[in-house]
Amino acid sequence: MKCAECGIPKGIGRANLWKPYGVIVGKHSSDIRAMLCDVSELDYLYSRLSQHIGYDVTRLVTEAKRKDHLYFTRNFLRHLEEKGMKPDPESFLRTLASFYPIVGLGKINIKNVQEGLSVDLEAEDIYNLPMCQGQIAGALEAVFNKTAIVSWTGDAHQGKVKVEAVGEEHEMGERMEQEIEITAPLVEIGNREYQLCSGCGAPLELSRDFEWDVDKALIKERRSLKRFIFDNAKGIVAVMRVLSDELGEEVELTMEGILRDYSRGYYQSLTGSTSTEEELARFPLWGLGLVQLLEKNNGNYRFQVINPVYPALVAGRLWGMLETLESKEFQLEMKKEEEGIIGLTFSR
Ligand SMILES: [Zn+2]
Repeated sequence: MKCAECGIPKGIGRANLWKPYGVIVGKHSSDIRAMLCDVSELDYLYSRLSQHIGYDVTRLVTEAKRKDHLYFTRNFLRHLEEKGMKPDPESFLRTLASFYPIVGLGKINIKNVQEGLSVDLEAEDIYNLPMCQGQIAGALEAVFNKTAIVSWTGDAHQGKVKVEAVGEEHEMGERMEQEIEITAPLVEIGNREYQLCSGCGAPLELSRDFEWDVDKALIKERRSLKRFIFDNAKGIVAVMRVLSDELGEEVELTMEGILRDYSRGYYQSLTGSTSTEEELARFPLWGLGLVQLLEKNNGNYRFQVINPVYPALVAGRLWGMLETLESKEFQLEMKKEEEGIIGLTFSR
C-alpha cells in the first residue's frame, strides 16, 4: 500500500493531481478539491470563533461535513457504477472505512450493518469529533439514500457509534447542501512545478514534509510534529461561507484574525529554519492556492493568490507567517480582483 519510492500511501498520488495553478483535484472528479489541513488549526479556529461570536459552531461544522461527505461519497458511487463495479452497501462502507486511515482521519471499524437501517461501528484516533460525526453520517446517507443521525458513546478521539437512517431532512441540512453544491470555477493560471515520484505520482516534496503512518491513521508534519489530514476542502469551506452569510462580513475579519494568531504561533517555532519564499511554495503543495509575491516596496508586500481555497483562510495564514518571519507587524488590505483571484497588500 505504501509507495516503495517515497513512502506515501500509493492511492494519494494515483487519485489526485497537483495542478500548476495551486490546487489539488481528484483525478476522476475535478470538482473535488483536496487540501492538507492542520488539525490543530481547525480546532483553534472553531473554538476561538465560538467564543468570539458567542455561538457554538460545532453543529454547523458537523452539518457541513455531513453534506460534504455525502457529496463525495455519491460521486464515488457514481464513478463505480459507471465502471460497472457498484458494490453492495456493506462492502462499499467497508471500502470507504479503509480509506480513513490513509488520509489521516482515524480508524473506523464496522461492526454491524443493518441494510437501509443502521450501522454500528467503533471509531479510534479520530482527528476532530464534530467533523468525524458528520463524515460518518454523510457516508451512510449516500449509501442508504436517507438522512442519518449519529449517537456517539466515548470521548473526543474514540467512541462506539451507532448511525441510524431516519429519512427526514432538516432546514440546516438543506442549507448546507446548497453550499456544498457550489463549486468555485478554477482559474487556470500558474506555473508551479512539482517533481513527481516515479512510483506513485505524488510530489516528492510531500514525502519530505510529511510522515504518513497508515497503521496509526496519522499524517504528521515532520518539522512541527503536528497532525494533518488530507481531505476534501468543501466541508471546511462551507462552514466558513455559511457563517459569513449568516453573521455578516465582520465574521470574515474575525476568522482572518484568529487564523493570523494561530499562524504566528505556528511559524514562531520555525523561525530561523525557513524563509518566506520557502513557505510560499508550500501553499500550493498543500492545496491552499498559488501565492505570488508581486511587489515588495518600502517594507510593504503585495501578493496575488490564485484559487485560494478560502480567502480568509489563506489571508490569515499568510498574514501571521509574514509577521513572524519578517519580525514586523502589518496591516492587511484584501481585495477580490476577480472570481478565483484575490489581492493581498500587507503594509506597516
Ligand atoms: Zn511515491
